[in-house]
Amino acid sequence: MKIELITIGDEILLGHTLDTNSNWIASRLSECGFHLRWISVVADNVSDMRHQLRRAWNRADVVLVTGGLGPTHDDITRPVIADFFKDELIARADLAEWIHDRFAQRGLKPPPGYELMSEFPSRAVPILNEHGCAPGIHYSLDDRELIAMPGVPTEMHGMLIETVLPLLESRREGHYRFTVLKTAGAGESFLSEKIGDPNALEPVHLAYLPSIDHGVTVRLSLSGSDLQEVDNTLKKAEESIRDRIGEFIYATGSTILEEVILNLLVEKKMRLALAESCTGGLVTSRIVSVPGSSEALERAFVTYSNKSKIEVLGIDEEILIDNGAVSSETAVAMAEGARQRADVDIAVSVTGIAGPTGGTDEKPVGLVYIAIADKRGTSVNRFRFGGGRDANRRRAAHTALVMLWQRLKDD
Ligand code: AMP
Ligand code: MG
Repeated sequence: MKIELITIGDEILLGHTLDTNSNWIASRLSECGFHLRWISVVADNVSDMRHQLRRAWNRADVVLVTGGLGPTHDDITRPVIADFFKDELIARADLAEWIHDRFAQRGLKPPPGYELMSEFPSRAVPILNEHGCAPGIHYSLDDRELIAMPGVPTEMHGMLIETVLPLLESRREGHYRFTVLKTAGAGESFLSEKIGDPNALEPVHLAYLPSIDHGVTVRLSLSGSDLQEVDNTLKKAEESIRDRIGEFIYATGSTILEEVILNLLVEKKMRLALAESCTGGLVTSRIVSVPGSSEALERAFVTYSNKSKIEVLGIDEEILIDNGAVSSETAVAMAEGARQRADVDIAVSVTGIAGPTGGTDEKPVGLVYIAIADKRGTSVNRFRFGGGRDANRRRAAHTALVMLWQRLKDD
């Protein structure tokens, strides 16, 4: 099944709005085993839209469109699509009432532009959604489908999930299954070397999906006519991957590393403290994003200046003078200070040079030390991240979580 996506909007071509709709749709579809063949962006312009619609309608089985369904003068997707199918807009009392009701619920009357949205292509089916007023448009002709959705992401999301995915599912031949194995502490090339030739897993398809914040996700997928066989083949492929890289896998599915860490801490009845310098609270924020984090997180210190490291964590000033704030000695003292001051079982510290300024030949931008102190002692690692400030801070935060996870699981 060939699926094409057209996003419409001057704001995207002007660089004012990032086309997150394309990315979101592509990932939702691929999660379900559907793959977009083409994505394009066109302006709110009649001839450009017509041109792209013709191209898409000629080559794809399903054409998805987002944008330009709203009430303002530049929203011309509805009449352009109707015209493209040689259809006409007719006043639909049911849509007018629906739009009216949506405003009435808030004690308001629809402004004029909104009432126009009830003029709808005569041969299309409207798609209503609870997040907005603009009806989506569904044409089903010659065994092909076109679905136009609003550009507002929240309005589009509901329509894609409730209408587009079931429609694609109904056109699917056979079954599709996938498994995601989430890894931490190993890079994509290291993992691919360990896993070896992906063709050996055939017919299972293997993909590496790296992310700064979540490590590398290894995704296995397979389609086939016999569901039982698809599941068994996928299971075998997963086992063979686990044999090779099992030690790096922290979760399957949508579970995040922070949840795995918190579960381990709770299971081991351990309390956690954090001492952050260059990450400025990022590690803490990631831990706190998990509901129930208070069961294990005791407190966190953001100690940016030397003064705060001395006052808040009780670090010996000599350590800072002799080694500098970004050093293994300081990282160790921060972790031990945090563990002692917070009176907890385990503490993690991060200190580094996020950049873009502050680096030297000896201590370049991206140099980060991460230490962990627990009852077995304190360990410290040195890292050289090579990105900009944002990437360095996110990498440092993620690496601190990876080290914590490794320490807890090996305990
Ligand atoms: P529209 O449906 O074209 O009137 O779009 C309404 C609003 O949705 C725009 O002003 C953008 O803020 C947002 N939007 C439209 N298209 C996209 C897109 N492709 N990606 C992200 N946001 C979008
Ligand atoms: Mg628009």
